[in-house]
Amino acid sequence: MELINNSSQGIEASDFKKCCVCRILKPMTKFHKNNANNDGLQAICSQCKTELYLKNKEKLFPKVNCSCGKTLYKYYLVNHLKTKLHMSRLQEIIA
Ligand SMILES: [Zn+2]
Ligand SMILES: [Zn+2]
Repeated sequence: MELINNSSQGIEASDFKKCCVCRILKPMTKFHKNNANNDGLQAICSQCKTELYLKNKEKLFPKVNCSCGKTLYKYYLVNHLKTKLHMSRLQEIIA
């Protein structure tokens, strides 16, 4: 029984790290490595990092609805309008 008690207390605080975004104490494995930091880990947990990345991605790369019904990244729209799909549509309109 003593062994079980010991093992439950054996979890050291150093095995956990508080995420600077969600403020949740998470195991070190939930953090990506960053050698620039003192503990060699990033201050933000991998989950928050992913969420932030997705948010930024939406901001940096807004999506637009094309006239063909497709949803695509705005930066890609110019290229998309040059595709065969639109070229043929354009020809239909002209003809
Ligand atoms: Zn987090
Ligand atoms: Zn289109």
